[in-house]
Amino acid sequence: MLTEGTIKTPEQISHMREAGDIVARAMINCGKKLQSGVTTGEVDNFLREFIEKEGAKPAFLGLYGFPATACISINEEIVHGIPGERKLLSGDLISIDCGAIVGGMYSDHARTFIIEDSSDEDKNKLISVADNALQIGIKNSIAGNKIGIISNSIEEYVLGQGFDVVREYVGHGIGSQLHEPPSVPNFGKKNEGALLRVGMAIAIEPMVTEGKWQTKVMDDKWTVVTKDGKLSSHFEDTILITEDGPEILTKASI
Ligand code: MG
Ligand code: MG
Repeated sequence: MLTEGTIKTPEQISHMREAGDIVARAMINCGKKLQSGVTTGEVDNFLREFIEKEGAKPAFLGLYGFPATACISINEEIVHGIPGERKLLSGDLISIDCGAIVGGMYSDHARTFIIEDSSDEDKNKLISVADNALQIGIKNSIAGNKIGIISNSIEEYVLGQGFDVVREYVGHGIGSQLHEPPSVPNFGKKNEGALLRVGMAIAIEPMVTEGKWQTKVMDDKWTVVTKDGKLSSHFEDTILITEDGPEILTKASI
């Protein structure tokens, strides 16, 4: 069984750059439209239209039977929330996870936003720890490193900040499939996991919880929530391993 990531060709890399740029711009523009009263279904429609207008395909729509363009998860929901009629409220934490396909190649990207009232320090801290955890993971995405260096650095940082990281859902290799080997956990030992090589691409995605890391899946069979009902934040970027270090593919060109 293939446990290491595939090495991408220059053509595949250029498609992945474009898929990453489109989803990053979709996310930035979507973030500006978030306010109380907007439904998660409206957020999803915006992302779908943006991605399609750019000539790409929404990566999640229909994948494994998922019914929407984005996974939208609110407050204690961690990942895989299904967009619908739910209206956003001031002070909600909204995690949006979205991907695009260009030339058969995938991007995968997630951000957490606070709706309107962003005065709550605990919520801001949770979001900044999840974002910083991702940045630490990216910094360690160097050819010759084992995945465990990424995993261990994220875990140590998040636990040191008094938060926890989800264990049942992890980052992954990415390319002509959304989910490819290797696994990229947000916890573990430094000397574990696949060796990073130039030309591999991985999605790093720390899911940081205010309380404990244990999760459960709701009756809709998709939405993953914290077991203790406490808040969660999710940040994700698609990263290419290059000779010069990590390149963030889910980065907006303009
Ligand atoms: Mg994702
Ligand atoms: Mg992912």
